Amino acid sequence: MEPFRIKAVEPIPFPTSEERRTMLSNAGYNLFRVPARMITIDLLTDSGTSAMSAEQWAALFRGDESYAGARSFERFESVVEELTGFPEVIPAHQGRVAERILLTSALSPGDVSVSNTHFDTTRASVEAAGAIAVDLPVEQNASKPFGGDIDLVALNEHLHESGVGRVRCVVLTITNNAGGGQPVSPANVAAVRELCDRHGVMLLLDASRFAENAYLVTQRDQSYANSAPRDVARATFAMADGCWASLKKDGIGNIGGMIAVRDADLARACRNRLIETEGFPTYGGLAGRDLDALAQGLREVTDPDYLRYRAESARWFGDQLAAAGLPVVEPTGCHAVYIDARLLLPHISALAFPATALANELYLAGAIRGCDLGTLVFGRVDPSGGPDVAAPRELVRLTLPRRVYTKSHLEYVAEVAARVASKAAEVPGYRIVEQAGTLRHFTAVLAPLS
Ligand SMILES: *Cc1c(COP(=O)(O)O)cnc(C)c1O
Repeated sequence: MEPFRIKAVEPIPFPTSEERRTMLSNAGYNLFRVPARMITIDLLTDSGTSAMSAEQWAALFRGDESYAGARSFERFESVVEELTGFPEVIPAHQGRVAERILLTSALSPGDVSVSNTHFDTTRASVEAAGAIAVDLPVEQNASKPFGGDIDLVALNEHLHESGVGRVRCVVLTITNNAGGGQPVSPANVAAVRELCDRHGVMLLLDASRFAENAYLVTQRDQSYANSAPRDVARATFAMADGCWASLKKDGIGNIGGMIAVRDADLARACRNRLIETEGFPTYGGLAGRDLDALAQGLREVTDPDYLRYRAESARWFGDQLAAAGLPVVEPTGCHAVYIDARLLLPHISALAFPATALANELYLAGAIRGCDLGTLVFGRVDPSGGPDVAAPRELVRLTLPRRVYTKSHLEYVAEVAARVASKAAEVPGYRIVEQAGTLRHFTAVLAPLS
């Protein structure tokens, strides 16, 4: 059960079936364009959507809004130092700014960054530095406990090859979001550390879901069964040279990000860059009160009761959806359940957007908003307007905001999903009416095919 009780409530809307139909049509059949006041259960993302605790709301009031050297920064800095062991702590207003500042400071044109998978904004930052992003995930399957690992054989080859360019850093995204939120094992991090030492390469963590990774390690690796998630997280940070994180995830904040590194020269370069876009290095685009709420969130997020609830509600939700007839991707991680739309809707060709079709149907059936991760997102490989290429998978991600929805909310989602699954053969595909050259899924206008 939820390891908390509810102290403040926010009513949720229940649009009628007629309203949902009209709204989706007005929104060009794109859930990003549907206003939140027309959503009953919003599972679009776990980013910035968390419910803060009473202690976090109290921390907001302690916020020190001094421009430079605020007490809020000191409190934030000491929590991040204690957690990561990195002496250089720099706040930023979201994860993507943190990674942009760190990666453009650390990388030069022609350098190579190798990762278990660069998150899409991370890849954009590597490329903005003129460097090359290479993804080397292990092959994933349901029986693998650590499907987020990097492929060590392929990494070793890359470190020896000189043809592509000089490998400057290895980035481990924990958990590996692109791989369905699968964890990276401590053994994998240790092996990467050794390879990095041998080749004089930096090891950086994209630590946006560091606590979920640590918890899954205690569940999936017997030798950590009795370890506290916070100790596992600390040991992981200790093996790296630095990290960044979106604190809109495991910071349990509504906004925020950070950089933390060991090297003082790198930190100096980051601070100089940060001043240009984010403000003074002790607030990094955030209000003092945000820093205090994040410091508190970073303490709470490794609470074993909270993490057990988070992981078990994701697993339970996945089981409910599977029982409702939906093809769920196994094993579930912590932050989301993924549904394979291609298996559910085999009559819709990839170029008619099966993942979009399923996500839209969940909205029409029950005002549920999921996130489409298929050809609409990944299919436009030629921004100058060439034909779409089918994405490797058509997934709908039902993402769980932290501490927001109860079991009965998720039960409702499973009931709606069961209704959709029972009428899967009637779900139409879609075509694009209007689209932008890049990141088209945020704004595209679509129309159903029948
Ligand atoms: C969300 C996220 C980012 C980007 O952070 P924002 O706060 O959205 O800018 C980077 N990496 C990972 C793994 C993320 O989940």
